[in-house]
Amino acid sequence: ESFGDIGLNSDIMKDITFHSYTNPTPIQAQAMPVALSNRDLLGCAETGSGKTAAFAIPMIQHCLAQPPVKRGDGPLALVLAPTRELAQQIEKEVRAFTRSSKGFKSSIVVGGTHMGDQASELRGGVELVVATPGRFIDHLHQGNTDLHRISFVVLDEADRMLDMGFEPQIREVMMGLPKRHQTLLFSATMPTEIEALAQEYLDKPVRVKV
Ligand code: AMP
Repeated sequence: ESFGDIGLNSDIMKDITFHSYTNPTPIQAQAMPVALSNRDLLGCAETGSGKTAAFAIPMIQHCLAQPPVKRGDGPLALVLAPTRELAQQIEKEVRAFTRSSKGFKSSIVVGGTHMGDQASELRGGVELVVATPGRFIDHLHQGNTDLHRISFVVLDEADRMLDMGFEPQIREVMMGLPKRHQTLLFSATMPTEIEALAQEYLDKPVRVKV
């Protein structure tokens, strides 16, 4: 298995090489072809496995297949993560793999920072948002962003998000999405609450475990 064999676009391939990722990790080798084939995925993987790139790269490719997002339009892809630090790491990786994709815009939406700056960035139109659930919902309620065009969602470290009490926010997002969308759910553990969430919001998910 190599990154060259799974149908990635040439700009992403250039960035992968620049980032000196030579071979996919096991989670990447298993999850990326599934994600690229538009299927839902339930991934059991911990931090350190390379799961960020496993979802970020297919998500970027999904966005690049669509026309650029214009001012006033909502995002195409959303990642929800439990903490500010994790969201920042994810967005950094998104930036690394979109270096060569001119015009691609991503935004980080987390608590503890200025609401106004994030609001104007969101209103300006971005392809991809990485957010913590509480802050994302705040922007949604203020009308700074919307769910109408989101067709790719990642719930990262879903078990931790539930432990932190973010279930209502996750449900609000999932229920507001357009009918046609792809969902990837990653969790280090698979308690019944996660199985229930997957049962409810994932469509015939492919299960991947590393
Ligand atoms: P993650 O599990 O996504 O937090 O990634 C853990 C670490 O592995 C990060 O420092 C990544 O930059 C690195 N990493 C992820 N995928 C690869 C890869 N295919 N080759 C080399 N390093 C990688």
